[in-house]
Amino acid sequence: MNIAVVGTGYVGLVTGACFAGSGNNVICVDIDEAKIEALRKGVIPFFEPGLEDVVQTNVGEGRLSFTTDAKSAIENSSIIFIAVGTPQAENGAADINYVLNVAKTIGEHINNYKIVVTKSTVPVGTTEKVRDTIRSISDVEFDVASNPEFLKEGAAVEDFLKPERVVLGVETPKAGEILKELYSPFMRSQDRAIIVSIRSSELSKYASNAMLATRISFMNEVAQLCELVGADVSDVRSVMGSDKRIGRHFLYPGLGYGGSCFPKDVRALVNTAKENSYDLKICSSVDEVNNTQKSHFFDKIKDYFNDEIKDKKVGIWGLSFKPNTDDIREAPSLYLIEKLLEKGAVVAVHDPSSMHHVKEIFGDRLEYSNTNYDTCNEKDALIVCTEWSEYRQPDFNHISSIMNSPVIFDGRNLYNRSMLEKLGFEYFAIGI
Ligand code: NAD
Repeated sequence: MNIAVVGTGYVGLVTGACFAGSGNNVICVDIDEAKIEALRKGVIPFFEPGLEDVVQTNVGEGRLSFTTDAKSAIENSSIIFIAVGTPQAENGAADINYVLNVAKTIGEHINNYKIVVTKSTVPVGTTEKVRDTIRSISDVEFDVASNPEFLKEGAAVEDFLKPERVVLGVETPKAGEILKELYSPFMRSQDRAIIVSIRSSELSKYASNAMLATRISFMNEVAQLCELVGADVSDVRSVMGSDKRIGRHFLYPGLGYGGSCFPKDVRALVNTAKENSYDLKICSSVDEVNNTQKSHFFDKIKDYFNDEIKDKKVGIWGLSFKPNTDDIREAPSLYLIEKLLEKGAVVAVHDPSSMHHVKEIFGDRLEYSNTNYDTCNEKDALIVCTEWSEYRQPDFNHISSIMNSPVIFDGRNLYNRSMLEKLGFEYFAIGI
């Protein structure tokens, strides 16, 4: 099939590359000329394990190409995926203008039957707006569909190639059949397509993210309570997770969720409910707990230094919102850095992949360490923000020997308190 993917970010590029990998001809479109130029040279604009190989192989075999020319991409495709951003608007709603701009462009260039698919995470009713926008410009036959993406940054290619489910929101059996056929190479062992109405499809993405975010905020509240009553959240989590009805995933307390999806999607869902005169109380609290989680953690640091943080030297391990990605959107590390700088601390940072993004924000207000041990050199405290695997079993004796005072604030509960205390560290974690 000939496919266009409009918007070549995390989702669009993975989608395009993986569909090319199953034998389709895919053209990825973006308005960012520098990004398209880089992709043509084989440079992937972000860090995503395994993606470079898939992109280079398919470009090499002539099935994947990149362009800023939306017109020719639209004219030459039978399925068009819209995968542009839907960032948070000022009122908390999702900004769907990028999606509707693409719809307008499709309306201007559509030349024969096509299926136009919203892959971006969009509020209920958006795919209908896409349909109405195209219809207001052109009377060529087309179908719209909703196909929200469930990939996780850091495991995006794997998730796309082996999906747990493929959600297809359609209005006509024809669109459902064509899209199911397109996805069939990724569902060979089991049919994982769930065909629903467009509105159910759109809502299912938000509801899924909100449920996952709820588990995290729930455990963060349990962790706060553990600290107050002298319980250990790791033990509580083990017990909870052993119940099959609860399950073990997404029960880790920490600095709160971040990234380009959960924060904005929870708020967008609350906003959708508000627009329909309904108050989504749980989701509002999930967002609130997530915000206070970061400030609770900062309070621990402040208390340790008796609020005398000025000129204290602090190292931070981990900047991306989670491991295996360079995405720093809404990363808790940014909040902590801002707070530490406000209080006059001297901050050094390390991250395996995202230091360049953090440098764009903080410039020379931070020290950027070449290795994670450099970050600890002559520091009064070390803060762990992201659970990259290389931070899990460091040489604590070495760290202790190079820090001014061996103190660790562990925002991801990576370490064993008694082991660290035996080595002379002061250790602060979450809920233990
Ligand atoms: P992104 O910001 O990485 O990429 C969006 C791209 O769209 C950018 O390259 C931008 O230049 C391009 N763009 C904007 N307007 C355009 C236009 N008119 N024509 C062509 N290109 C245009 O975004 P992302 O992280 O890939 O997310 C895209 C959508 O997928 C969002 O709705 C997001 O919520 C959703 N989503 C993201 C993830 C994730 O892990 N990142 C997972 C599932 C769903």
